[in-house]
Amino acid sequence: MKSQDVRKQFLDFFQSKGHLIVPSAPIVLKDDPTLMFNNSGMAQFKEYFLGNATPKSNRIVDTQKCLRVSGKHNDLEDVGFDTYHHTMFEMLGNWSFGDYFKKEALPFAWEFLTEVLKLDKDRLYVSVFEGNEAENVPFDQEAFDIWKQFVPEDRIILGNKKDNFWEMGDQGPCGPCSEIHIDLRTDAERAAVSGRSLVNEDHPQVVEIWNNVFMEFNRKADGSLEKLPAQHVDTGMGFERLCMAVQNVTSNYDTDVFAPLINKVEEITGLKYTTNDIVLSGAEGEEQNKINIAIRVIVDHVRAVAFAIADGQLPSNTGAGYVIRRILRRAIRYGFTFLDTKEPFIYKLVAVLADQMGEFFPEIKSQQNLVTNVIREEEASFLRTLDQGLQLLENVISETSGKEVAGAKAFELYDTFGFPKDLTALILRERGFSLDEAGFDVAMQEQKARSRAASEVSTEDWSVLIPGNVETFVGYDQTEADVKISRIRKV
Ligand code: ATP
Ligand code: MG
Ligand code: MG
Ligand code: MG
Repeated sequence: MKSQDVRKQFLDFFQSKGHLIVPSAPIVLKDDPTLMFNNSGMAQFKEYFLGNATPKSNRIVDTQKCLRVSGKHNDLEDVGFDTYHHTMFEMLGNWSFGDYFKKEALPFAWEFLTEVLKLDKDRLYVSVFEGNEAENVPFDQEAFDIWKQFVPEDRIILGNKKDNFWEMGDQGPCGPCSEIHIDLRTDAERAAVSGRSLVNEDHPQVVEIWNNVFMEFNRKADGSLEKLPAQHVDTGMGFERLCMAVQNVTSNYDTDVFAPLINKVEEITGLKYTTNDIVLSGAEGEEQNKINIAIRVIVDHVRAVAFAIADGQLPSNTGAGYVIRRILRRAIRYGFTFLDTKEPFIYKLVAVLADQMGEFFPEIKSQQNLVTNVIREEEASFLRTLDQGLQLLENVISETSGKEVAGAKAFELYDTFGFPKDLTALILRERGFSLDEAGFDVAMQEQKARSRAASEVSTEDWSVLIPGNVETFVGYDQTEADVKISRIRKV
C-alpha cells in the first residue's frame, strides 16, 4: 500500500466513525508564544481542551505537519542516526472532545491497525500507565482491561509517568496514555529471544507507532487531581513509521515517503544509499555508513526546511528563522563533507517533494518556486564560506591540546563563516572533541554588549523581559523554553 493510501485509509476510517476531517495547521506558529513550531497534533486544539473554544465537531481526524527541533521535543540529534526519528513528520490523529473515551478509542486503534491495515497482531504490543502514588495518579485499570480483550497479557507493558502520563503543564488537563509499539525484528531474531517481547529496550526495530492520550483529570494548584467535567481523547501516530510497518520494511527511509528523495540524491551525487543497516562494518562499511547517514539527514532536513518556508518561515538570523537556517546548514555540510557536493543541490529535491506531497499539501506546490529559490540562495551563500570555515576548524583542532575546543574559536566560526554553534559542536563530536559551549555563549554575549553599546537602537537583537526579572540576550539559539517564560519584546 502506498503512503498516500495509508494516509487516506486513516482519514476515511475515522470519518466512517463519525469524525470530521480537518486540514493540518501550519508547521510554523505565529500566535502561540509557548511554541515555536507545531510539534504535535494537539497544538491546534489546545483551546478546545481548555474549554476556551468550541470545536466544529466533537470528533475530529487529521494529519498534522510536526517539527521536533526545539524545546521539550527536540529529535534533531537522532535524525540520520536512527531510522525513525525525523525533524519534520506527519502525526495522524483522531480526537474526541468530550465525546467518546477509552472504551471506544482503543478498539478503534486496534481495528484500524489489524483489520484495515492488517498488521500482524503478534507484532504489536501496548503500554498502559502503571500509576504513581507519590504523584497521586492511579494505575490505568480501565485501559488494561480493554487491552486484555485484544492482546495477551504479556504484551501489555506497564509504563511509568515519563512515558505514559501526559500533562499540559504543572496545572491543568492531564491523564494517562497508552502506546502501541510494533516489533519489526525478523522471525529468527524474535525466536532467539523467545518468551517476552522486547520491552522498550530501544531495539532499532521495536518502535512506538501510536500514542493514545486520555485527558481525564485536572491538576489543581495544590497538586491534587479532580476528574475533568468532560473527558477528551488525543491520539498521535507517526505516519512515516506506520508506512514502514505497512510496507513491510524496517526503516522509514525505505518507504515511498523517502525513496523518491533518496533516488534523486543518488542521481545527483552518483553515490548509492544502501539498505537500512545502521552500522556497517569494515573500512568500506564505515565509509558507506557515513554516506547513508548523510543521505538520511539531507532527505529528512529538506522536508523540514521546505515545509517551514512554504508555511511562511524564511531562514533568518533570529528565532524560528534561525532554527530553519541551522537545519539547512546542517544538511549542506553533511552533503559537502560526506557526499562531496560542492555546489547547491538540495534545492533540486523540492520538485520531488512537491510532486510527491503536493496533492495532499497544496502549499508545497503553490510555493514551490519560492521554496526552491530560497534554498538555492541559502546553499550558495553558506557554501561560499563553508570550505574556509572547515579549514579553520581543522587548524583549531590540531592546535587544541586537550579534547575541548575553546568557545571563542567556535564563536569566530559563527561570526565570520556562519557556522551555527550546534554545527560546530556536531563536527567536533565526529572528531572526538567537545565544544566549550559556555565559552561560546560568553563570546556571544560580549559581542552583543559591544554592538548594543555601538548603537542605541538595534533592529535585530531581542531581549526577553520577565516582569521584575529582566533577562538580557537569549541568543540565536533561543529555544521554545526561553520564549515560554514570557513574551519577547524588542529593546
Ligand atoms: P519516541 O518515544 O519514539 O521519541 P514520542 O513518545 O516522543 O516518540 P509522541 O509525543 O508520543 O512521541 O508522539 C506520537 C507519535 O508520533 C509517536 O508514537 C511516534 O509514532 C511519532 N513520532 C514522535 N516523534 C517523532 C519523530 N521525531 N519522527 C517521526 N515520528 C515521530
Ligand atoms: Mg520522542
Ligand atoms: Mg515515546
Ligand atoms: Mg509517545
